[in-house]
Amino acid sequence: MGQKYQQFYRRSIEDRDAFWTEQAALIDWNKPFDQVLEYSNPPFARWFVGGQTNLCHNAIDRHLDARGGQPALIYISTETGAEKTYSYDELHEEVVRCAAVLRGLGVGKGDVVLIYMPMIPEAIFAMLASVRLGAVHSVVFGGFAPASLALRIDDAKPKVMITSDAGMRAGRVIAYKHLVDEAMRLSQSPPEKVVIVNRGLDSNMAITEGRDLDYATLARQHAGEDVPVTWLESSDPSYVMYTSGTTGKPKGVQRDTGGYAVALAASMKHIYCGNAGDTMFTTSDIGWVVGHSYIVYAPLICGLTTIVYEGVPIRPDPGIWWKIVQDYKVKVMFSSPTGVRVLKKQDPEYMSKYDMSSLKHIFLAGEPLDEPTHTWLTEALGKPVIDHYWQTETGWPILTSVPGVEETPIKFGSPSFPAYGYDLKLLRESDASEADADEKGVVAIIPPLPPGCMTTLWGDDERFVNTYFSTFTSKLVYSTFDWGIRDRDGYYFILGRTDDVINVAGHRLGTREIEEAVQAHPNIAEVAVVGVDDQLKGQMPLAFAVVKDASRIATAELKAAEEKAVMAKVDAQLGAIARPRRVYFVSTLPKTRSGKMLRRSIQALAEGRDPGDLTSLEDPGALEQIQQAVKG
Ligand code: ATP
Ligand code: MG
Repeated sequence: MGQKYQQFYRRSIEDRDAFWTEQAALIDWNKPFDQVLEYSNPPFARWFVGGQTNLCHNAIDRHLDARGGQPALIYISTETGAEKTYSYDELHEEVVRCAAVLRGLGVGKGDVVLIYMPMIPEAIFAMLASVRLGAVHSVVFGGFAPASLALRIDDAKPKVMITSDAGMRAGRVIAYKHLVDEAMRLSQSPPEKVVIVNRGLDSNMAITEGRDLDYATLARQHAGEDVPVTWLESSDPSYVMYTSGTTGKPKGVQRDTGGYAVALAASMKHIYCGNAGDTMFTTSDIGWVVGHSYIVYAPLICGLTTIVYEGVPIRPDPGIWWKIVQDYKVKVMFSSPTGVRVLKKQDPEYMSKYDMSSLKHIFLAGEPLDEPTHTWLTEALGKPVIDHYWQTETGWPILTSVPGVEETPIKFGSPSFPAYGYDLKLLRESDASEADADEKGVVAIIPPLPPGCMTTLWGDDERFVNTYFSTFTSKLVYSTFDWGIRDRDGYYFILGRTDDVINVAGHRLGTREIEEAVQAHPNIAEVAVVGVDDQLKGQMPLAFAVVKDASRIATAELKAAEEKAVMAKVDAQLGAIARPRRVYFVSTLPKTRSGKMLRRSIQALAEGRDPGDLTSLEDPGALEQIQQAVKG
């Protein structure tokens, strides 16, 4: 940690109230707060108590005087060819109109609005309109199937749902409304009204009279109505967002209003180095937390221009992201390791085709960024690539480099240091004592969690405490359920999830460590390692790998030789104890559409069990390959 950042960080922990009071000045308050933190009932924290504010006001209204004509949102769809820019004035108009529509349907403070939509501007209008009214939105990722959507409907209990006739992905039409109809049938407590933004993509869309309403018609009816901002108490909820569900039943993360706005504004300044007037391009989806924080709220709260991209990274060609960077002079970019690994498999020509001089940093998060990919991207772009680590629960980074305070050298494979505000510790699993440098521990946060983090689980305070704060009996700490290690320079490395551990003949091995070793073989593009039952050793690792050069495994002999070579790499890096029982070569790995590896499903298949809920699976063919591989 650099000197300057170290001081900044220390102050955020040791002089917490003064630190966050300063950050709170980055947003507008209708009424100032009386107390920075109220923490009489741990682990429940309330930030900026007594203060009144509103996310929509901060994202739009407060900019109208100074930058009403500046682009606020630039929508680019490589699926339909649409491209449209909304200035702050225009965004204001759209959002007020949408708020009038929602208000007309009886939506008010505290009501839940469920948004199940593709990446179109109306999805963002709906989010902002909902917080404008003091309602609570719950955006469900459009890739989820009806059963998963129904589960979330039943937990969130929305008053109104907003959807679209269809989305598009890689040229294929996905009939959203059709999925919604199915989810409504499966749900125990379906909303009374469904508003449909009709893009004209699905001519077969069925309409349920009395329940289904056309957005364009309603918007015309409410045109010109004024909808003032509903001021909220700082700790009033702004949204519920369900975790990805990688490790089981999704959890409804509840976010407050004031703490979140302050956390995002502070992160834009100190971490992302984005200023009013700059352009930010976040390649995520509004269905994920990254989309909430860094496609919608943070850039708008800070007066930036945000790019909303509907499309995949390789269409029309693998240069599309960089073309967007060039054409719109993107300064801040935020993407994911999966996205980058997709590009790594393409012709490198696309990486140097466009003028990237506007780009300052590229940030990546969501899953481990392996060292080879980190190095590759840094060299290919010639820009600092910042790996940062966070969770749906926190809403903004936990571990990161903080270049707005101090540019510190990047170590490949490391998300650098604890973000300010987080009293982060690496704890020994045995007794919650602090691990030494170079010793693995559970990444934990001493509560209170800083502003912006979850305040509870939706409707379930008990599950909030039991899930996150009960790992250690001796201490009240928030567990991330991830392993980490800190080197002697203070840099952290994430070693995988605490439940992704394999026990081989009494040795506990993290699947992530084995994956890193496999990936050290130059022909491996990507790999998933899982532990499977083994009569002799308890568990054994199995590796499923994607190669870069398939000609090297073109025959059975070559394949066997490559498998041996990969095993030898693991032997050399970790010892024979960690050597996978088999290395299977597949052309693609099963992942959620947010790029998270479905290790549990792979493991289940490898052990001949049911792979579980697969509704967010990117490519069902990937699981078939796993099945074939273990059978053959
Ligand atoms: P669920 O909690 O429902 O099982 P999930 O944990 O996959 O789902 P997210 O909140 O989207 O849902 O993901 C957070 C997790 O992703 C982290 O706990 C960590 O395991 C992983 N992660 C995120 N960023 C990084 C990173 N930069 N390096 C390593 N791992 C990361
Ligand atoms: Mg999680």
